[in-house]
Amino acid sequence: MASLGNPKKTIEILNKYSFVFQKKFGQNFLIDNHVLEKIVRAAEITKDDFVLEIGPGIGTLTQFLCENAREVMAIEIDKKLIPILEETLAGYDNVRVLNEDILKVDITSIVEKYNNNKPIKVVANLPYYITTPIIMDLFEKHIPLSRVTIMIQKEVAVRIQAGPGSKDYGALSLAVQYYAEPYIAANVPPNCFMPRPKVGSAVINLTPYENPPYHVENERLLFSLIRASFNQRRKTLVNGINNYEGLSLSKDDIIDALNALGIANDIRGEALTLEQFIAISNRLSLVNPSAAND
Ligand code: SAM
Repeated sequence: MASLGNPKKTIEILNKYSFVFQKKFGQNFLIDNHVLEKIVRAAEITKDDFVLEIGPGIGTLTQFLCENAREVMAIEIDKKLIPILEETLAGYDNVRVLNEDILKVDITSIVEKYNNNKPIKVVANLPYYITTPIIMDLFEKHIPLSRVTIMIQKEVAVRIQAGPGSKDYGALSLAVQYYAEPYIAANVPPNCFMPRPKVGSAVINLTPYENPPYHVENERLLFSLIRASFNQRRKTLVNGINNYEGLSLSKDDIIDALNALGIANDIRGEALTLEQFIAISNRLSLVNPSAAND
């Protein structure tokens, strides 16, 4: 039975092992059963699912995952938590704990070995100091994923979900939306964690596209264009790209591409949709296929 999702039980187990929170590992443990239930519901976990959990902590969310999934693999960097996890997960025979840094683990091999290369679910209350590298790693390495359900800083969740015209729209929104459809499933206040984080949190679902809805000639060029245009947010796209060292394109190349696509010359990156960025990138890749050098 899942049992750790309240302050009393959490304090009891932490005291038993004289556990000291490590700030450098982004340790904010969940102490609210309602939030834990919400995460599992948002992930729509079934007994068919293989779930990868990043950072199980003392195993609070892990217990919920074990009860709902076929199999769970939990990867925890802090070796002081391993004996605690041995105790809190002793009642489950469908879980493996690995004492590793998630950014160094070969997730592709795990999916191959334990799930026959079929899509897995990733569920986590992420350590906030490495949210973006973890998310981008999962997508850029093309790990077979059916859903990613993660607790992250609220401000980052809002940026991921933002669209053109919003002040929160930027390179992160476009990078994630290129691979997946984001949906904020819940907002979670600091008092649901121990210790309390300084910022609000949110649970976000990222559902990767089975078949990407667009064709991109040159991904590297697309992402360079996106970085260039948000590098200097207040500049027009033409000036942003022209001033960006990672791109060898002239102002005229860019103006020609915009004209051909019927987009105004003074447009700013923050007003362009992902589809428009792709159209510009595909057009420019014809002009100079090796334009991106960053
Ligand atoms: N899942 C637990 C919960 O919800 O109570 C703990 C969540 S806590 C926000 C983040 C966890 O990730 C911590 O247990 C921390 O030690 C672990 N962690 C931090 N960096 C990590 C890394 N690079 N690889 C694996 N785990 C990491």
